[in-house]
Amino acid sequence: MRPFFSDLTAQPNPRAPCGLPQWRQAQALVSLSLGLALGLMLALTFGAPLYALTVLKPEAAQQGALIWAQSQPGAKVTVAGKAVPVLPDGRLLIALGRDAPAKVELVETLANGQSQTLALAVKQRKFDIQRIDGLPSGKVTPPRKAELQARINREVAEIKAARAIMTPYPLFDSGIEWPLLGRISGVYGSQRVLNGTPKTPHYGIDIARPEGTSVRAPADGVVRLIHTDNYYSGGTLILDHGYGLNSAFLHMKAFHVSEGDYVPKGFVIGTVGSTGRSTGPHLDWRITYNGVRVDPALVAGPMPKQ
Ligand SMILES: [Zn+2]
Repeated sequence: MRPFFSDLTAQPNPRAPCGLPQWRQAQALVSLSLGLALGLMLALTFGAPLYALTVLKPEAAQQGALIWAQSQPGAKVTVAGKAVPVLPDGRLLIALGRDAPAKVELVETLANGQSQTLALAVKQRKFDIQRIDGLPSGKVTPPRKAELQARINREVAEIKAARAIMTPYPLFDSGIEWPLLGRISGVYGSQRVLNGTPKTPHYGIDIARPEGTSVRAPADGVVRLIHTDNYYSGGTLILDHGYGLNSAFLHMKAFHVSEGDYVPKGFVIGTVGSTGRSTGPHLDWRITYNGVRVDPALVAGPMPKQ
C-alpha cells in the first residue's frame, strides 16, 4: 500500500497537442488531468503502485537487515550503487550492511528503460564497541611471518571465490532457520578498539554449545567450501543458498557433507567445535548476501525457546 507518488513528475510528459485549436488543447489538458486523477484514485483504492519497486517491510530496514522488495521481471535494480540480482518473478533481496547509512538509494530500471530512484530509510543501530587502551603495541597488531601471511591470504581468497559463485535458484525460499539452538555468546557488529585502532567488527553470531552438537543447514543449499583447518576459523563450511546468499559456519569439529553436496534445510552438516582461533566450543554463523554481511539474528528471527 505504498505507491511512490513522489516520482510522478519523473513520468514521461505526454506532449502537448500542438497545432490544435486552443479549446482542443484545453480539452486535451482536462482529459489528461482526469486520467491522472483516475489513476491516482485507482492506485489509492487498490494499492497498485504506479511504479513497480516496492520494499515489502520498509519498517524492518535497519543496519544488518535483509529485506524483500518486489520489482518486475527483467528489471535491473541497484542498492547504494551496487547491482543486486532480481529473481525471474521480479523479487529481490536488499542487504543492508553493518555500516549502512541512514538513507540508501535504490534505483530501478524496468525492461522498457523507464527508471526511478527511491530513498530507503535505514534505522541506525548501536553496536557493542569495546575500547581497550594501554596495551603493548605487539598485542594490537602482532607481527606475522611471511609464510603465515601467505597462508591467510590464500584461505581468504578461497572463501571469497566460494562466496562469489552465483547459483540462479532461490534455494532460500524454504525460509532460514537457526542452525542450532543455544546461548548467544557473541553478536553481530560488535567491535574492539585497541589503543585507538578499530579492529575488524564481528560479523557472525556466536552460539555456545558443547563440542559435537549437531549443526543443521538453516536453508537448502549447496556446499561450496570446506576448510578443515583454516588459520582463523578452523573447521569452516560455506553453504550456497542461491542468488548470492550464503551461510558460513566457523570453528566446526567435524563435517558430515562434502564440497558440491546439495543439502536440504535441517540436514546435519557437521558438529560444533572450538577449532581455529576460538576460546571455547561454539558455532559462529555468518550470512552474506551479494557481498554484504548481514545479521543472522535478524534473518532467522528471535531464537526459539529451548
Ligand atoms: Zn564469532
